[in-house]
Amino acid sequence: MSKVEQYITSIPDYPKAGIIFRDITSVLKDADGLRLAVDEMTAKIGDTEFDAIVGLESRGFLFGMPMAYNLHKAFIPVRKSGKLPRATSRIAYDLEYGSAEIEVHREDITPGLRVVIVDDLIATGGTLEAAVHLVEQLGAKVVKIVCLLELKGLHGRDRLTSCPTEAVVSYE
Ligand code: 5GP
Repeated sequence: MSKVEQYITSIPDYPKAGIIFRDITSVLKDADGLRLAVDEMTAKIGDTEFDAIVGLESRGFLFGMPMAYNLHKAFIPVRKSGKLPRATSRIAYDLEYGSAEIEVHREDITPGLRVVIVDDLIATGGTLEAAVHLVEQLGAKVVKIVCLLELKGLHGRDRLTSCPTEAVVSYE
């Protein structure tokens, strides 16, 4: 298991009773934790060839941006609907209660673009699955998904079979 795990804080009963929330801000606020997390996530890309990192709002930005900067690659944000100023493509997906919608600037995802999608955590995999569909419906290819954490018991990986998926730390 990665040493990054020691910087993650587990918060019982947040945001509601019975949930253990894995807080990554305690990783970011420690210079060593931040470096370890970004470096180990970057290492998970390995020798996969790609053109851009697509980061998911908002915690995917915190890790995806420094990864892209370090590798001298482009960074493309996927945001919750209503926040991007240029023409977008959107996709809706189901949450435990209700639904959500994410979007990306349409002209930023060009046909054939090879992207690595970055987020902080895989839970049910619904957010990442929607992000994969969003960029692939514009003709891009998702060559890898990289996250800091994975909640294995929720089997999110089962929804992400179309591309290799990597997580630095796994919780059962
Ligand atoms: P999923 O769509 O896989 O069920 O949920 C993943 C999304 O929810 C991610 O964007 C992630 O930021 C957020 N999320 C769900 N649970 C947690 C948690 O325990 N800790 C953190 N940091 N994010 C979570």
